[in-house]
Amino acid sequence: MLTLPKSLEKIVPPIRQWQGPKTAELLRSPGKFGLGQVPDKLVPDATTNVVCGFCSTGCGLNVHLKDGKAVSLTPSTQYPVNLGMACPKGWEALTPLEANDRATHPMIRKQRGGQLEPVSWDEAMNAFCSNFKKIQKEYGDESVAFISTGQIVSEEMAFLGALAKFGMGIRHCDGNTRQCMATAVVSYKQSFGFDAPPYTYQDFEESDVIILIGSNLCIAHPIMWQRIERNKNNPEIVVIDPRKTETAVAGTQHYPILPKSDLYFFYGLANLLIEKGWIDEKFIAEHTNEFESFKEHVKGFDLTQVQEQSGITPEQLLKLAETIHRGERVSFWWTMGVNQSHEGVRTAQAIINLALMTGNIGRPGTGANSITGQCNAMGSRLFSNTTNLLGGHDFANPEHRAKVSKIIGVEEEHIPTELGMAYDQIVEGIHEGKIKGLWVLATNGSHSWIHQDRYREAMEKLDYLVVQDMYDSTETAQQADLILPAAGWAEKDGVFINSERRIGLVKKVAEAPGEALSDFNIFKLVSHYWGVGERFKKWSSPEAAFKMLTELTEGQPCDISGVTGYRMVDDHGGIQWPCKPDQVSGLAEDNQRRLFADGKFYHPDQKAKFIFEEPKPVAEPTDSEYPWVLLTGRGSSAQWHTETRTKKSEVLRMLHPGEIYVEIHPDDAKRLNIEPNSKIIIKSRRAEVEVTASVTPSVYPGQLFMPMHYAKMNKLTQASFDPYSRQPSYKFCAVNIVL
Ligand code: SF4
Repeated sequence: MLTLPKSLEKIVPPIRQWQGPKTAELLRSPGKFGLGQVPDKLVPDATTNVVCGFCSTGCGLNVHLKDGKAVSLTPSTQYPVNLGMACPKGWEALTPLEANDRATHPMIRKQRGGQLEPVSWDEAMNAFCSNFKKIQKEYGDESVAFISTGQIVSEEMAFLGALAKFGMGIRHCDGNTRQCMATAVVSYKQSFGFDAPPYTYQDFEESDVIILIGSNLCIAHPIMWQRIERNKNNPEIVVIDPRKTETAVAGTQHYPILPKSDLYFFYGLANLLIEKGWIDEKFIAEHTNEFESFKEHVKGFDLTQVQEQSGITPEQLLKLAETIHRGERVSFWWTMGVNQSHEGVRTAQAIINLALMTGNIGRPGTGANSITGQCNAMGSRLFSNTTNLLGGHDFANPEHRAKVSKIIGVEEEHIPTELGMAYDQIVEGIHEGKIKGLWVLATNGSHSWIHQDRYREAMEKLDYLVVQDMYDSTETAQQADLILPAAGWAEKDGVFINSERRIGLVKKVAEAPGEALSDFNIFKLVSHYWGVGERFKKWSSPEAAFKMLTELTEGQPCDISGVTGYRMVDDHGGIQWPCKPDQVSGLAEDNQRRLFADGKFYHPDQKAKFIFEEPKPVAEPTDSEYPWVLLTGRGSSAQWHTETRTKKSEVLRMLHPGEIYVEIHPDDAKRLNIEPNSKIIIKSRRAEVEVTASVTPSVYPGQLFMPMHYAKMNKLTQASFDPYSRQPSYKFCAVNIVL
């Protein structure tokens, strides 16, 4: 039983009602909750479609209920994203809910170094609010911050961002999406005028040339790879990646550029296309700006320089240019190999420039397409209230502030006029004594943040650390002063937005354990105990919040004001933004929509911009002391990020090595007498870690690769960042092998 005082129940509805429908109630009257696919008469055995809670692909999963309990799932054959397919994580999505390290009660550490002890929600909320308020009183409002996630539903992200910024005076807020998508956001905003990935997954099937850059699609986004496999055009599949990844092996052309030589390579390729006249001059003239300056800029990147910097020969580059020229529908796709770079924004824009100059945008099978990471990274980009004001608005714009104020019912004076610190600045702000209190939600920075030890040390320096999570066992939760137990995916309602801008529905099909609450309901509690419950009365349920979000987007490029509620999202198999009222009637016919078919972009003159810059050296080049390049990335399709959830599944654990390993080329291993599967030590300027040697030609000589999922890896990485997106540069640091 929940331990809430009676007095509180008079002020706000009982928690279990906020939580969303109990399964039995859901089955009795699904329409009441907008859950259109739950058949009214199938009580108690039923099936309902829920969008997967791991990656940004956003597959539809049919969850099967028996006696009101979710017992199994199968991939949905009707959902337009995955067409009956799922990766291992999707098949095992229910398993992590049953783990025995779920956080089931609020827990408080009453003294430093002491144990975490279970307490009531009342005690937890009083402790949270009194400690944060005390810090703010002593050091100012700006001395507390939050770091959130791309894993919670959009309604929760928006509620958190609104509550923290407009209710609690918290200015410095960011999410773990900074680690994966910030580069794509900034590059699109600058090039197109709005953060707008233009594609639909159908483009994978319609291209005749598919160019994958820094993307190991086969294991990172396996269902997108399956969409390529369905392509009937016998496409060229070009992979640009320093590693011979699973995707590079499966592709038709591989360009193993030297790590972080991307800009030399893409500028050289652009120069070659221009020299050959293989560009779309009409499209450039009618729909873009700054091409002539770009043309001048890339003249300096000749074939010799490209070979020197990237290792790609003139013949190879010519072959790629010819492939692009011959293609009628060329699509460019990038993900973390580009985003997690010291010059990720300019690299992403070099890719966008190629699509623009060859006229490969706005048509089926084309596009400059960033593939997102987390299930709701795209929701975070629009609604987290961190890098822009709710709904893709601008904090600095008085009209935008007035609009947001009116819709969510918060006085304008509470809306800040500028952005706060980014993730890395918050971490450094803690070290500098500027940030004293931190609220971490559904992310595990003590494992995942670059140069991990510095993050962990920062957590120890805080006066008060609150962690809100499904599990109390994460590395970050173990450092907390207060743990707030949260419901997970499928234990609550809301929407995710996937990589192709599709809004999909997450439904409550299981009860959260113990006293765990949905994040939405925890925010309800915080608003009450903070004394601002009245200010956030419009956030009465996830669907009420969703309706406000749709209203907030009106007039924006991401306008979804035509979406009337959860039932409509469900009935359409997800809905891509934009969806204005006048677009609704066309949805049934065309639920695979791409942007820019009319050649109009979002800058005031409706033109896209060519943006470019001189390449810059990496922050930590190799030298005689640290002569190896360490690359990092995803290890297998059975692992998700810090494995907080995937390691709970016995099935998934069998699909990848249990211990951390490093990939090393056979020639290097032979030269150093390193036996396969022997233990070696990898040392960087930050730390040294013992790992198992995996001898494989998937890496090239002089390079090493380690998967991101094991806690030790980020002890080695070097904290450098793209200057525009502030995204960490995980993909390059200098290390040595200690034998
Ligand atoms: Fe879930 Fe992504 Fe796997 Fe699809 S590809 S089942 S969304 S983890």
